[in-house]
Amino acid sequence: MNVFARPTPEARGLGMTSQRARDRLIDRLKADGIADRRVLDVLRRLPRHLFVEEALASRAYEDTALPIGQAQTISQPWVVARMTEALIEHKVPAKVLEIGTGSGYQAAVLAALCGNVYTVERIEELLRNARRRFRKLGIENLRSRHDDGKLGWPEHAPFDAIILTAAGEAVDPILFDQLAPDGVLIAPVGPPGTQQLLRYRQADNGWAAQSLGAVSFVPLLGGLG
Ligand code: SAH
Repeated sequence: MNVFARPTPEARGLGMTSQRARDRLIDRLKADGIADRRVLDVLRRLPRHLFVEEALASRAYEDTALPIGQAQTISQPWVVARMTEALIEHKVPAKVLEIGTGSGYQAAVLAALCGNVYTVERIEELLRNARRRFRKLGIENLRSRHDDGKLGWPEHAPFDAIILTAAGEAVDPILFDQLAPDGVLIAPVGPPGTQQLLRYRQADNGWAAQSLGAVSFVPLLGGLG
């Protein structure tokens, strides 16, 4: 992919946004248990500083969530890495649906690893900014849509993987209907303060969830923002 092959000076970064800053973040993620080299490699190359406002760029390689406006956040790099690792562990999905585009960072990570990425965001302004970033980075295997992602994206189903980056009380069955039989769905589930990151895969008697640990995500909301 393009930006990776030949990064612009802006994408390459300087000082707090330089390759050294990215490398330090990767060392930290490794120390904190992220082991998949494919994921570490993408995070090492993807300029996270382009996914936050300029005023926050110097903090882009801290392992922390950051505000992106509209009361939303770009997820913590460790969480992005963990979710991506869990998503591709058994098979690299050819077709992925992300619900909650936000800054576009998680979608860009997925686009670097998977065949085709579909991402849905309910807040138009966030989606506009994310699309500008996708264009700037030359990401072509990604389609985005302004909609309520609770409904999935039925026109492009079935997906090999579905990832929610906002937390609901439960996963709506409508999303499982859009998942391939050998697919995987990853979602933060539960009320603020007690959310668990769950990975669903097909078992003998339906979809079975495995917990990947405690997390803290913004809420999955209904309707358009
Ligand atoms: N993946 C994002 C994380 C953004 S935070 C990133 O890498 O930056 C979660 C996002 O989910 C927010 O932008 C929020 O507006 C969006 N969201 C919440 N409920 C949604 C819904 N029902 N449909 C689509 N997007 C939703």
